[in-house]
Amino acid sequence: MSEDINNNNGNNSNNNDDNGAASEICYVCRRVITSKNDLFHMPNGVNICQDCLRKTMDQVSAMDFSNLFINGSGFNSVKPGVGEAEKKEEPAEEKENIDTEDEPDGFQGMPNISFLNLSDLMGGLGPNGKRSRIKKSSKEDIKKEFDFSKVEKPHKIKEMLDMYVVGQEHAKKVISVAVYNHYKRVQADSEDSNDVELEKSNILLLGPTGCGKTYLVKTLARLLNVPLAIADATSLTEAGYIGDDIESVVSKLLAAADNDVNRAERGIIFVDEIDKIAKKKETRTRDVSGESVQQGMLKLLEGSEVEVPVGANSKNAMVPIVKINTKDILFICGGAFPDLDEIIRQRLSKETSIGFNAELKDRWDKEKNVLKKVTADDIREFGMIPEFIGRLPVICPMEGLSEDMMVEILKEPKNAIIKQYEKMLSMDGVELKFTDGAMHSIAKKAMERDTGARALRSVIEDFMLDIMFQVPKDENIGRVTITEEYVKGTGGPLIDLKGVLALEEESEVYPGGGVYNGLRPAGEAPC
Ligand code: ADP
Repeated sequence: MSEDINNNNGNNSNNNDDNGAASEICYVCRRVITSKNDLFHMPNGVNICQDCLRKTMDQVSAMDFSNLFINGSGFNSVKPGVGEAEKKEEPAEEKENIDTEDEPDGFQGMPNISFLNLSDLMGGLGPNGKRSRIKKSSKEDIKKEFDFSKVEKPHKIKEMLDMYVVGQEHAKKVISVAVYNHYKRVQADSEDSNDVELEKSNILLLGPTGCGKTYLVKTLARLLNVPLAIADATSLTEAGYIGDDIESVVSKLLAAADNDVNRAERGIIFVDEIDKIAKKKETRTRDVSGESVQQGMLKLLEGSEVEVPVGANSKNAMVPIVKINTKDILFICGGAFPDLDEIIRQRLSKETSIGFNAELKDRWDKEKNVLKKVTADDIREFGMIPEFIGRLPVICPMEGLSEDMMVEILKEPKNAIIKQYEKMLSMDGVELKFTDGAMHSIAKKAMERDTGARALRSVIEDFMLDIMFQVPKDENIGRVTITEEYVKGTGGPLIDLKGVLALEEESEVYPGGGVYNGLRPAGEAPC
């Protein structure tokens, strides 16, 4: 477009500077513009600089075009922002998101004219590709939605979490109470009482990778009706640098709250990998993804009005901005904090090696769950700044997973991995069983990988692939039992045929591990 316009009036220079380069005056702001690329030539000798053009476009896109049309004018219906072709393809769900409330009843467009909605070009699309339209629920709606009297008591919330999350008793307790108090605070706020103001207690979850930090928060969000966003601290950088702006974590919450500012202001944000924004040691340059991010997060954690880009990860002229108050947003930060246990051990052995109560220096070296003894000082030593730690008053260490916990994770939770495989094979009409020995050996193998419960699935996938490939081949298979030997690679699974199962539930066991249909122990010939 700009080229066309430029060609229109290419010879319209107003001034020539000493070097002979053309300099012209913006018709709107009256500034002298020397760079040719920064100026747009309009018809009738009007020149407009880039800044003014952008501002004009902003204003045009914010205009309410519906006033231009007269009720019941009888023109064909072409809505501003939606061209005919576009309108036909639009899915029903998306249509709901387009502003229809303010439209006059008899709104009709002009024939053969469609309007380009500039906000579409300017990043106005949300993360799900839908048009971001900022809403504000009324106080009454918010009061209804966050009705404290309908919220489960903390012990009930924990019971619900117990169904999914194994172990981590302390963390589950902390989270249940935190969420319960969150509802209390929101209720107290909406009542506008002048008495004691309830302040939030943000939480810091510490624990080795794969111990269930994210899973705990995700499960909580599923069980409760509170907007929750999960953000990642690794991609955050100080504003102006490549990466996501710190405010983008609040944008995610806004999206999770359906772009409803009032709902988002009462939501929960989980910032994962918070240890990745620790202060870098020995940096000579500005620490734009470490200390600066921590500093930038201070105002979010504390509670203040922040300007948040809508549907984007960083602010720029093309993205709409909305103001959100983070006073009532509960922040839960989680991180693995590798090597923090070493810092704690050093402190503990220093403390206990002096005086009458001195203990053996290596006592703490053997302690596995030393993370339980963490203090704010240890976290500061790790690289978090004191102001940041001060805004996360609840420090909640989580346990590393033991072999027994791993076995429980395999079979107990509502959507346990074993249950998932059982369901998959049952669709083929086959029963799947795991012996105790098999489960323990899966847990042992997973622990060797040092990635927590995440490794369980990959260990199981290793040997289940063969079964899932072979079993559907044979309609006669009624049951597959995974044995310890099969997991270790020294034997095969036990296969029971349907006919045999039906006949007095007599199982056909293949001695030394089943040898059937290609599912045979490694190195053994098929029979
Ligand atoms: P991280 O602590 O690194 O955030 P996640 O919470 O993402 O780890 O855990 C990875 C996966 O491991 C989860 O999706 C979940 O299936 C499983 N898991 C981890 N810990 C537990 C637990 N305590 N109870 C049940 N499942 C768990």
